Amino acid sequence: MNILLINPKFPDTFWSFKHALKFVSKRTTFPPLGLLTVASLLPHSWNKRLVDMNVQDLREIELKWADLVFLGGMSIQLKSARAVIEQCKTMGKKIVAGGPLFTAFSDEFEDVDYLVLNEAELTLPQFLVDMKNRNVHHIYQSDQWADVTTTPVPMWSLINSKYYSSMNIQYSRGCPYDCEFCDITVLYGHTPRTKTKEQMLSELEAVYSIGWKDDVFIVDDNFIGNKALLKKEILPAIRQWMERKKHPFGLNTEASINLSDDEELMHMMVKAGFNTVFVGIESPNEESLIECKKSPNRNRNLIESVKKLQHNGLQVQGGFIVGFDSDPSSIFQKLVEFIQESGIVTAMVGLLNAPTGSRLYKRMLKEGRLLKAMSGDNTDFSMNFIPKMNYDFLVNGYRSILENIYSSKQYYTRVKEFLRTYNPPKVRISFVKSNHLKALVKSVIILGVMDKERLHYWKLFFWSLFTRPRMFPLAITFTIYGYHYKRILEYYAAG
Ligand code: SF4
Repeated sequence: MNILLINPKFPDTFWSFKHALKFVSKRTTFPPLGLLTVASLLPHSWNKRLVDMNVQDLREIELKWADLVFLGGMSIQLKSARAVIEQCKTMGKKIVAGGPLFTAFSDEFEDVDYLVLNEAELTLPQFLVDMKNRNVHHIYQSDQWADVTTTPVPMWSLINSKYYSSMNIQYSRGCPYDCEFCDITVLYGHTPRTKTKEQMLSELEAVYSIGWKDDVFIVDDNFIGNKALLKKEILPAIRQWMERKKHPFGLNTEASINLSDDEELMHMMVKAGFNTVFVGIESPNEESLIECKKSPNRNRNLIESVKKLQHNGLQVQGGFIVGFDSDPSSIFQKLVEFIQESGIVTAMVGLLNAPTGSRLYKRMLKEGRLLKAMSGDNTDFSMNFIPKMNYDFLVNGYRSILENIYSSKQYYTRVKEFLRTYNPPKVRISFVKSNHLKALVKSVIILGVMDKERLHYWKLFFWSLFTRPRMFPLAITFTIYGYHYKRILEYYAAG
């Protein structure tokens, strides 16, 4: 049996880092972890190939080879997924589809042959049994949560790692919180389900064995869902492994802001090799946090918490949202001030949207404010419900935030603010990234020579070189990220 796994294309967004990836000669950010895991769940005797459309085109010859196509994807990949479905139909290829896109919108994919939804560990085995017995149904679903201690190591042999800027590993699923706009708990539940220490080490070893020495993203939506286990078993084991291998990876993940309350945990994460956390800050407006039930963020000085993380060696990337019912008209200015003061360089600001199945979705439906399914890109100026604030006022305010925080002046000021606070771990990584040298040269040419706002680049270049030499590579990385954000902003502005 020949199986072709297809990962549809992502559009260009703030999250794609497309314009930054050119500097390091990479084609996309991450491999399709879900599909690689599904590949490991399929019978070993089957032949498998992967086409990640973010690194290569889907060619007819590959489809001809396939007996069955496995299609994955998230909401944001909808357009490309639709095109793949059409192409498969034209060529008479049967499709098995799964992943968040198909799980959330199963009604809209009646034309897909087989929908294997929810967590594949639960639904795929039955599909395979039915296939063997020639008794396959259209849809496979589950209302249970999978036991991730049985999840196999992803089939890394299917990718060419040189196309990616980072590898990814999943440690846990589920989050103990209940934010109104979030569909993570709908997809994965409230109880964090974690892999074992042995699994984590096998996962790290598997990525290492494909020759990878660079960043690894632990993709969990909230890595610190079970702090006790992290402290007792997981982080000490990762730390020992990293020391044994001479620190081959720079680790980053997502965590709730209460990580900043736990010095021991921050310290252990940094010692284990973590250098960056993405934190959902959402809003500096307390009423908006109450409205969306972002409980870990409430009743705290959020700027102080961010600075604590930075000071302890964790760069903070922040997620922010505008469009809450409780947002005052001053929210736009307030948010800009917050972002600048916090030194969060990578500040992802989005318009509030209601993912299918989330509590917000249900509320908007009940209040007659729901308009459509969300696009999956919360930075494309679209909303899928009617906001309380006048829509044009909201969108203009939103645009003003982006134009402000990603203007060269504000952006470079923020980078400096961050580099002044950041206290990077004193761990020596065991490799020199040749593509980082290439990136430096390209940044000099593109940002230092060709860019009309090159003065900002050179000021940061020399400032970091002479006053923060240890952070010089990071400063250059930020100049490249800034280039990407500006290009994306221009793209959105052009409509
Ligand atoms: S803390 Fe993050 S992952 Fe958890 S429910 Fe809130 S938004 Fe979702």
